[in-house]
Amino acid sequence: MNGSTSTSPVFSKVLVANRGEISLRIQQALREMRIVACAVYSDPDRTARHTLAADEAYPLGPGPSAESYLDVDKILDVARSAGVDAIHPGYGFLSENADFAQRVIDAGFTFIGPTPESMRVMGNKLSARAIMEKAGVPVVPGVTEAVDDPLRAVEIAHEIGYPVLLKAAAGGGGKGMRVVHSEAEIQSALERTMGEAQSAFSDSSIFVEKYIEHPRHLEVQVMGDQHGHVVHCFERECSVQRRHQKVIEESPSPSIDDHTRQQLCHAAVAAASAVNYVGAGTVEFIADPQNNFYFLEMNTRLQVEHPVTEEVVGIDLVRAQVQVAAGMPLAWKQSDLRQRGHAMEFRIYAEDPAKNYAPSLGRVLRLRLPQGAGVRNDVGIREGYEIPIFYDPMLAKLIVHAESRRACLARAQRALAEYRLLGFTHNIGLHRWVLENKDFRSGHYSTSLLEEQFDPEVLTTHISDEERQMMAAALALVEAGVGDASSASGTRPADLSDWGRAGRAQMTHRNQL
Ligand code: ADP
Repeated sequence: MNGSTSTSPVFSKVLVANRGEISLRIQQALREMRIVACAVYSDPDRTARHTLAADEAYPLGPGPSAESYLDVDKILDVARSAGVDAIHPGYGFLSENADFAQRVIDAGFTFIGPTPESMRVMGNKLSARAIMEKAGVPVVPGVTEAVDDPLRAVEIAHEIGYPVLLKAAAGGGGKGMRVVHSEAEIQSALERTMGEAQSAFSDSSIFVEKYIEHPRHLEVQVMGDQHGHVVHCFERECSVQRRHQKVIEESPSPSIDDHTRQQLCHAAVAAASAVNYVGAGTVEFIADPQNNFYFLEMNTRLQVEHPVTEEVVGIDLVRAQVQVAAGMPLAWKQSDLRQRGHAMEFRIYAEDPAKNYAPSLGRVLRLRLPQGAGVRNDVGIREGYEIPIFYDPMLAKLIVHAESRRACLARAQRALAEYRLLGFTHNIGLHRWVLENKDFRSGHYSTSLLEEQFDPEVLTTHISDEERQMMAAALALVEAGVGDASSASGTRPADLSDWGRAGRAQMTHRNQL
């Protein structure tokens, strides 16, 4: 077995230990490789798309993640009774848990991901920093030591200069970080960040690094195999963020030239090689306005934004993950990989940008996805689906690809204008605002873009009369008790088309659909 053209199964059956859009994405790759795709689901996900789409689906129990998607014993029990060969963890949940990876291996299954050892060193920001320093990869100015004494923190901050960032060594998801502007703030900031880190990550270790102002977040996709090869699949720019979390990603980065690109990708390969990395990983960097870049952390898993790279480089990263986990050599050499055109990803979150991005809840009353050339939808929801309160508010991703950044901007605007999602507050209006923003359009933007320029008040202008009417029609149907989709087991999207028809009947601007 070799090469990306092989369709012979490397495994017969694989368990996807995840939910939503990423479970579906992985199932698709498995099916193309003629591997039986098994899903798991919690009670509220009984009729979720990922459950219905799987070849086999197994219940995990109650909604809370700790009792379902994070319950290692239950997942291993399912793997045994389903008779799978391997487990793909997706992203989030158990994907970066080295103990889980080890237990998967000890139970006799293949873990589709890196070795537990490389997950362990890279999973801690402090040990990762130490390894990168040794490998000659630039790290953010700071001191590679855990700090719990305010006097030592003051000393370090004095050395590197304010503002500084206190960071939890075990942090993730934008949590466990605090900017400190002066000595007066440092003691209370240290206590609070340590307390947060202890409760969120069960590890209170904190370190101090320089806070880079108006930075950009750049990252490089890497892929390694069990035969010592590591390649990069170029960079992604992920500087449109809210609360230190990504909202829009694009590739190539509009802010770097070829020389910087080469240096960045070279550093990423050095970083991955330093831990003998196997599988898909992402090396994250932060760049200052002068384009000096520094290692931030390595994510030892598939990223949410992996489709941007897939579109621009023309590869299937999930397929490659499965092949590499089965012991096959990487299907591509570095010289096979090129960036073609431009891609952007828009994360669709069930949240309210006007309420500090608080998660919103509700039922999907209407979902009409944009289509056409260069438009890809990775979607975990369907009409009639009640969004469970237990999980991440990211429901779907819109990915657009075009021959140039300019064409990509136009395609993204077209696709987002066509997107119909009703039933709860979401951030599509925010994406449309970003696409009109002068700094984003010019490619000169930093992670401060939303914080400094976005005013949620402007969003109301993006709700069209058509959408208001659609919403009213859909709500009227709910009140009349038509089509209780969530209660009907085996309900399929097709059963719900009445919702759409009723909505359309009350519309005045039909041409916009
Ligand atoms: P997490 O693991 O929580 O995602 P990261 O270290 O990857 O944390 O950082 C997430 C984001 O926080 C970055 O993309 C960036 O916006 C911001 N950030 C992190 N470190 C710094 C820094 N030293 N200076 C400025 N911003 C930073």
